[in-house]
Amino acid sequence: MTFLDELKGKVQEAVDEQRGRLREISGFIYENPELGSEEFKAAELLTGELEKQGFTVEKGILGMPTAFSATYKGRGSGPRVAVIAEYDCLPGVGHGCGHNLIAASAVGAGVAASRVMSELDGEVVVVGTPAEEGHGPSGGAKVIMAEKGFWDDIDAAVMLHPASKYVAGSRALGISKVKMEFQGQTSHAAASPHEGVNALNAATLAFMATHMLRQEARRDANLVIHGIISEGGLASNIIPDRAVCDFGVRSSDDAYLDVMVDKLARCAEGAALAMGATVKITKRKLYRGKKVNGPLAEVLWNNYAAQGVQIRPWQETINGMPMASTDFGDVSQKIPATSSGIAVTEPGTPGHSVQMAEATMTEKGQEAMIVGTKALAMTLVELLAEPEKLKKAKEYFDGH
Ligand SMILES: [Zn+2]
Ligand SMILES: [Zn+2]
Repeated sequence: MTFLDELKGKVQEAVDEQRGRLREISGFIYENPELGSEEFKAAELLTGELEKQGFTVEKGILGMPTAFSATYKGRGSGPRVAVIAEYDCLPGVGHGCGHNLIAASAVGAGVAASRVMSELDGEVVVVGTPAEEGHGPSGGAKVIMAEKGFWDDIDAAVMLHPASKYVAGSRALGISKVKMEFQGQTSHAAASPHEGVNALNAATLAFMATHMLRQEARRDANLVIHGIISEGGLASNIIPDRAVCDFGVRSSDDAYLDVMVDKLARCAEGAALAMGATVKITKRKLYRGKKVNGPLAEVLWNNYAAQGVQIRPWQETINGMPMASTDFGDVSQKIPATSSGIAVTEPGTPGHSVQMAEATMTEKGQEAMIVGTKALAMTLVELLAEPEKLKKAKEYFDGH
């Protein structure tokens, strides 16, 4: 048995010892869902647990009250490897994105790794990142952390996300928002329509123009445009003087995303001109696309496969179609970073649903959390025990 195999055996045992506690942590967060930037109970529970386990915890980092960083130092100085926790819920569907499991797995993996740190150089860091779903002032905390240089002191980061299949190394789309606020003139809809300027008509025209952009979209760039008309008038007998469109634009190519955002803005300007309205356009970059890391995905993948679960080959995953967006994308643009998916439910369960929330607390969901926690813990110690793997991940990062 190699030194690394011994370490991996120990951290897996350490995860098994925490089974009951991890069920409690994930269950408490499930029962007490908190929106982004308001995850006070969750942050208190997680930081309390990490302090109890001997971590040095910094709470409320970078001006975000529910963000934290918890460090456990090894025998000597060396690389810093991180596991990331999320713990915000969604409005209406509670933990429909399963962040209660992300939180418990990060703490479980960090604690398990800490048990062997006396044999390793370097540090394990559990990073608490609020508001992944974008709610409130800490919305997209990982982006705020990226802008403030937080990730620059970390050598690699891993995490997991509940899903219906096991995967490692999944991609994600960059996302920008475009808001169009049309201004017209109210008037009696029957008696004096000729004295009005219908802002809703301008919004409708902008919506149609946006639909027409799709045909000329670059097919390799995984473009997604989704939008709503969030304001469209107050009463049907008043010509609306204000209408607002909110669009999300996503692509796997960050530069192309900017090009498409400009085209959406052009649609709004053209529609306003046609209707004689004015428009205010607000463009906002939200999350960047995920930069995949082959060597890191391979390490993480091996630590899932070693537990005998069915997991899609990582080579397929890092080249697969990116589906959603996450602020973890901004982490991956700064340092080698890889996420994994754990099979908490059967394929066909929608993400962001009550069914997904419930799945996190089933036997299958809880067992998947344990498998994921072990894979994360083994990956943390593997990167510290065999730093050449970390070096390969860094070389890959620099070369792509
Ligand atoms: Zn989500
Ligand atoms: Zn999520």
